[in-house]
Parts: sequence; C-alpha cells; structure tokens
Amino acid sequence: MVTDPNNPVLQIEDLSVAYVTNDGFVNAVNDINLTLYPGEIVGLVGESGSGKSTMANAIMRLLKGDAIVTKGRVKILGRDVYEMSEKQLRQFRWSKMSMVFQSAMSALNPVMTVETQILDTLTSHDKSMTKAQALERAKELMNLVRIDTKHLKSYPHELSGGMRQRVVIAIAIALNPSFVIMDEPTTALDVVVQRSILNEIRRIQEKVGFAILFVSHDFSLVAELASRVAIMYAGRVVEMTPSNTLSLMASEKHHPYTIGLLEAIPELTADEVIITGIPGNPPNLRTLPSGCAFHPRCPFAEEICTKERPVAVTVGPSDIECHLYSGKGMKQHV
Ligand code: SF4
Repeated sequence: MVTDPNNPVLQIEDLSVAYVTNDGFVNAVNDINLTLYPGEIVGLVGESGSGKSTMANAIMRLLKGDAIVTKGRVKILGRDVYEMSEKQLRQFRWSKMSMVFQSAMSALNPVMTVETQILDTLTSHDKSMTKAQALERAKELMNLVRIDTKHLKSYPHELSGGMRQRVVIAIAIALNPSFVIMDEPTTALDVVVQRSILNEIRRIQEKVGFAILFVSHDFSLVAELASRVAIMYAGRVVEMTPSNTLSLMASEKHHPYTIGLLEAIPELTADEVIITGIPGNPPNLRTLPSGCAFHPRCPFAEEICTKERPVAVTVGPSDIECHLYSGKGMKQHV
C-alpha cells in the first residue's frame, strides 16, 4: 500500500445517484462531497433507506439494476473510478479499494474452502504470485484476523458468524488496499461478537493503516471508531462533524436529526434504560417533503423549512444543513 499522507485516498465531489423507475428518476443520493485521507476512519450514519448503502456501492462502482450516477465524481487515489475501463476497474478493485459487506454468508462462496477463496483473490489480481507465496499470505491474513490457520481448510458453514466476518475482512485487505468500505460489517452479529469484531477492525487498521468508510445505522458504534462522522438523511449528508463533539452530546450544536440520533442511543442509569426516539418515519424518496426533507419530524421546524432546502454552513467544527444555523430561520440554535 503506497499512500501520500497529504493526498486523499477518496474524493467524492457533488455525487448524486438516482433509480430509474417507470415514473422517472428517484433521487437516492444527492450532492455528496466527502474526502478521506490515508489512515482515516470516517463514519457514515443514518436510518435504513437514507442512501448509505447506495452511496457505498456508487463509490465502488457496484451500483446494481436501475441505479445510475446522475452527477459528480468519485476519485480513489486521484483516479476517477467512473472513467476507468472495466479491465482497469477490475485491477483497481480489491488492490486499491475494497469492501466488506454486511452479510458474510452471502459474500463468501459456500462451496469453496476459505483457503481457495483467499488464494483466488490473491492470484487473480497478482498473476506473478506463486501458489506457495499465496498460501503464505493466506496464513498471514488468518493470523492478522486471529483465526487458526487450520480453518483455511474449512467451508464457510463450518465457521461461526464472527469467524466468517473475519474471513471476509481478511479477503478485503488481502491485497493491501488503501481504502476499505465497511458496510454494516457487524450488523448480523450478536452484541458480544460485534464488539470483538469492532476491536479487531481497529487493531488491524492501526497495524496496516488503510482508510475506512464505516457505514452503519448504529451511531454509538461509529462514534467509537471514527474520527469524523457524516450523518445522512433522505439521500443527503445533513451534517459532517468530528466524532469527539458527538460524544459531547445532543446539547452541542448539531443538526436536529443528529440530536435525535444521539438521544436515541440508550443511556444506562442506575436501574433503567432511557431511549428517546425520533418521531415518525424516514420519508419515501419518491415523495420527499418540500424544503428540508426532515421538517415533518423536526421539533424546530418553521415555515421556511417547508419551502427552502438549507445549504451547508460551518458551525464550529461541523458542517450542517439546517435553517437553525443558516440565518434564514426565525429560530436560532443557542
Ligand atoms: Fe429542522 Fe428546519 Fe433544520 Fe430542517 S431546516 S432540520 S426542519 S430546523
């Protein structure tokens, strides 16, 4: 992995993605700008349907079906992913950028051993690698994700859920990529295994040094791991903030949706768990509310919010799209 600390590994400029339907375009991701530097961990948080996974797939140029990029650019290590030929993209994927998917079972081939799957990844991208070298690297990777090398001979169904996810991580980093997207990598696992995988990701990342875009609906998980967090709502990044200010709690200056997410994190008191949720449901992307799409659920909404979509303004260490900070609303965050 060769990366210059001053040059971004990922640059997303004004990216928009839409689904082509019989009724026209349905915008799923809008005007996203995001930069990741070498070794950085950035979180991407939002409820289901907020556009997180669509954005992750767009970065990898893995959009399926009727999803298309309608605007913007994605550059990895300075190269525009959408200007590459299929061959260039195949060479680039896994060696420079890779992805860990939510479901390890669907990411792994059930009828191939772990060894075959790791070796396939290694030798298909590096034709000069001998089988012995690939096997050596496979063992190294198993040690890195702390699975006994005897499991190289195992099939995915013979491993626990946590071990399968570790194998998926091993495959994702097999070729030393500079940038890895982790899309809900621990969601299918129970809380204890989730915690150990998270620690594993942190440990490996510190050792190997790749940058991570960590996608999750679980704010507490992301805040723990990432140095910056992008909060997505209805296809937009409505706030980008350092995660240390998030830990300072909902009383800080944040987007009202971020405040709602922070308040939804269970707070353990002496003898009870207090959870405050966000009222209502995420909007249907086909019929987005006018103005700020969050206004039907927002406790601070006022007239301008129903008419005009706020643009991002810098508020302390954060960039926030909200009329509480735009100077256009009657109410101001104090
Ligand atoms: Fe709430 Fe208005 Fe801010 Fe949207 S712009 S989050 S509706 S205060």
